Amino acid sequence: NKQVLLKNYVDGFPKESDLEVSSDATISLELPKNESGVVLLKNLYLSCDPMMRNRMTETYLGAYMESFKPGSPLVGVGVSEVVESSHPDFQKGDYVTGYINWEEFSVVRNPQLTKIQHTDVPLSYYTGILGMAGMTAYVGFYEICSAKKGDYFFVSAAAGAVGQLVGQFAKRAGCYVVGSAGSKEKVDLLKNKFGFDDAFNYKEEQDLTATLKRYFPDGIDVYFDNVGGKMLDAVLANMRVQGRIAACGMVSQYNSLQEPEGIYNMSLVIFKSIKILGFTFYHYLHLYPKFYDLILPLLREKKIEYIEDIAEGLEKGPAALLGLFSGKNIGKQLVAVAHD
Ligand code: NDP
Repeated sequence: NKQVLLKNYVDGFPKESDLEVSSDATISLELPKNESGVVLLKNLYLSCDPMMRNRMTETYLGAYMESFKPGSPLVGVGVSEVVESSHPDFQKGDYVTGYINWEEFSVVRNPQLTKIQHTDVPLSYYTGILGMAGMTAYVGFYEICSAKKGDYFFVSAAAGAVGQLVGQFAKRAGCYVVGSAGSKEKVDLLKNKFGFDDAFNYKEEQDLTATLKRYFPDGIDVYFDNVGGKMLDAVLANMRVQGRIAACGMVSQYNSLQEPEGIYNMSLVIFKSIKILGFTFYHYLHLYPKFYDLILPLLREKKIEYIEDIAEGLEKGPAALLGLFSGKNIGKQLVAVAHD
């Protein structure tokens, strides 16, 4: 049973050598006899999420999930097939999603898993558009941004799992949408596939405040922040009065050894009456049914675009996960351990 283990707690930028792909021959791939409430899973798709980096340190700011344990497999959102079950709620052949170990097969007692109801869409989508990334985009846009027709809307890490969806939601709501991303290829996708009004490669810009002024001469009404740091500071300088900022993630800060870089423009939150509201999808799980009512028809009718970046095989897992922090992924990064 191949696994991806955390070797040691990570300091700063994670390296592939902080993770280890190993084989654990001691795990029995059979259900324990005379024990009920257990399932044997064949793991299919594993989601790569920036927040997994936080769990690679012993303690992290605002810890809301346990850190990974050195010597144990990583844990993340995944999609699995039930191959054996002594649990009344799960049958052989069911597809499930939830937090699973980064390994080929798992024996799980009292599983906290959700049975996948809609199997007419690719199952890998439950790692992204139909899972955490989709819910995050949905909650952030519809519950936090208060965006309305004609608003000037900016989203960072726009070609990623969350960003690509946020931009499309904003376009559907009639906003003028600009995204930032870290390569020409991503910028082209934003403009030509996801229908953004404009996009730029932030890595080619010297002065982000001036860049944003160029793209938003009249200022920004809504910023969906996926990166924090310098970009957030430059956005603050370009916000309009009574603008709104959805604080979704701060991926530029996850690997810093120091305190987060200074945000010099923070006092503008007061002077411009800007609302900054943080959120995690986790506090809005009750909205899943509403979210599915919106997103499933859009997917089935091909009214929303969605790009996945699939690493084939568990061995590719470490590189895929760490690639999130240098922007190697184009779209939603996931690992296909096996296919359905
Ligand atoms: P992405 O698919 O967007 O992958 C991460 C991207 O971040 C990379 O592709 C890269 O794109 C960009 N990036 C990496 N390092 C930096 C940096 N130093 N500065 C600027 N950009 C950087 O990931 P997700 O869509 O899964 O997540 C996006 C954000 O949403 C993250 O901050 C994540 O933590 C957050 N999140 C929040 C949740 C919530 O409930 N609030 C839930 C899920 C995610 P590029 O090439 O453009 O640099």
